[in-house]
Amino acid sequence: MSEASNDFSFGTKAIHAGVEPEPVTGAIMTPIFQTSTYVQPAVGEPLSGSYDYGRTANPTREALEASIAALESGSFGVAFASGLAALEAIVKRLSAGDHVISEENTYGGTTRMFNHVLSRLGIKFTYVDARDLEAVSAAIQPNTKLIHVETPTNPMMKLCDIRAISELAHANDALLCVDNTFASPFNQRPLELGADFTMHSSTKYVNGHSDVIGGLIAVRDPALADDLYFIRKSSGAVPGPMDCFLTLRGIKTLHVRMIRHNENGQKVAEFLEMHPRVDRVLYPGLSSHEQYDLAKRQMNGFTGMVSVDVGTLERTKALTENLRIFSLAESLGGVESLVNVPALMTHGSVPEDRREAMGITPGLVRFSVGIEDIDDILADLDRVLQI
Ligand SMILES: *Cc1c(COP(=O)(O)O)cnc(C)c1O
Repeated sequence: MSEASNDFSFGTKAIHAGVEPEPVTGAIMTPIFQTSTYVQPAVGEPLSGSYDYGRTANPTREALEASIAALESGSFGVAFASGLAALEAIVKRLSAGDHVISEENTYGGTTRMFNHVLSRLGIKFTYVDARDLEAVSAAIQPNTKLIHVETPTNPMMKLCDIRAISELAHANDALLCVDNTFASPFNQRPLELGADFTMHSSTKYVNGHSDVIGGLIAVRDPALADDLYFIRKSSGAVPGPMDCFLTLRGIKTLHVRMIRHNENGQKVAEFLEMHPRVDRVLYPGLSSHEQYDLAKRQMNGFTGMVSVDVGTLERTKALTENLRIFSLAESLGGVESLVNVPALMTHGSVPEDRREAMGITPGLVRFSVGIEDIDDILADLDRVLQI
């Protein structure tokens, strides 16, 4: 179905795109090609096409890549060993002296990689609040090659206007990368809005079962795809065949899971907003969200990610350590509910002054609302809020 897959709607693509019956046996499911190399009947002539070595080519991985390309309305997918490896490959297209503008409130590990690894290699980074188009525009320099944003951001749920920023980037010969991990391709497709790269930590919603670390990129431009394949082959951050298989299997229920994540996220956000012991709820699906209009325009749903401010570390601990359905853990986007204290956990590596300036205080709690029964989830939250 890969040829015509863009004619189908999202749920059909989630199940079928990239997945062809295996030609030798007719197996309906893509086999796990757990091999590091392939036989060559004659010198320099692999038995089949480009299959010469597992780092360069693997059929299970290619099926996953065709799937994410279709789901993100792209033409090519590129799979990596982790979300950070995927993002690193995008930045590795640049050279020493080139400049990147990044949203300031990205995933903590993104900031760490930019500040402590890639900046040592001579790539320059400027951080901006990408809600503010003027600020993004003012940060552009003659050597700016890439703008990197996350929307919604982690954990402040800020949005940025993908279409407007892509126009700004292109008017200045720069490319736009959107980290689409928080939204998932079901809720938001940045390539349709003009972005050049959309990337995922597929560890989160895309795989959805908290059992794989992985990264995926989708692009439309064949030259960008070639660059990424070349960088991956040269640098080596490939995912294993088993992980590709598991992620493909997770994707088959992406649309069904996201419908429930969206419903549960909305109900939790509304419940917490009405609750007297919660100071503030950050969720793009609430009309109180300062970018609610942009959210409705740019997204089809608002996910299960909900952040709240409960004021103090003492209250944060009372809340997060006594929940029964929500486990206290890093990560997000799995079928099970998780809760996290960004200032002390996921964003611990962000310098404290920058953290405070962005509102990531010890009173901030981030929920990844799973797809359990909503009555149980709300009862769990209600109980701990009484403590
Ligand atoms: C988790 C995460 C990453 C990093 O992905 P890994 O798979 O852990 O390397 C990047 N961006 C966002 C938004 C994330 O949540």
